[in-house]
Amino acid sequence: MTHTHEDRIADRPQHLCAAYGCPLIGSMSSSTSGSTEWWCFAHFGVQGAQLQAITTELRSLEWLAQAVHDVRFHDKPGTEASRRAFALIEHQLALHQRPDLLWIRPSTEHQGEKRFRWLERLENALKAMLDAAGVLNPSSYQATLPIGGGAPSTFNQVGFDMPM
Ligand SMILES: [Zn+2]
Repeated sequence: MTHTHEDRIADRPQHLCAAYGCPLIGSMSSSTSGSTEWWCFAHFGVQGAQLQAITTELRSLEWLAQAVHDVRFHDKPGTEASRRAFALIEHQLALHQRPDLLWIRPSTEHQGEKRFRWLERLENALKAMLDAAGVLNPSSYQATLPIGGGAPSTFNQVGFDMPM
């Protein structure tokens, strides 16, 4: 294998976290000097061997990491991709016995969970698991997460494609 670091970076979809192999979306950047590297909450501010340790853990928690990615990524409701992603998340959460993490559907007591709230719960669950594995990035305890790449206002809608 003669892949250079640059090749590997170039192979990765632009929206992903700058840590190689990380399944999450890059949503945080500390740079004010023109760098285009964006990091997920788990990798933000982390250096050296710890980067890979976190990636390895995220890979082993792929079912949840993928859900966090998809809820953040699919911001266009009503698309086939969005519907498929939602169905897959529900399936994976059920499979891993986390019905508590399912999206809260509209009912008589609840208007239906907002997408950013759901994402928050999923990300907190992922943080708790990274913490349990001893690789939680200390800076992600208090980090405020900017949402998505677009206007935050769209995120206040349900947005994601809830099958009803
Ligand atoms: Zn990452």
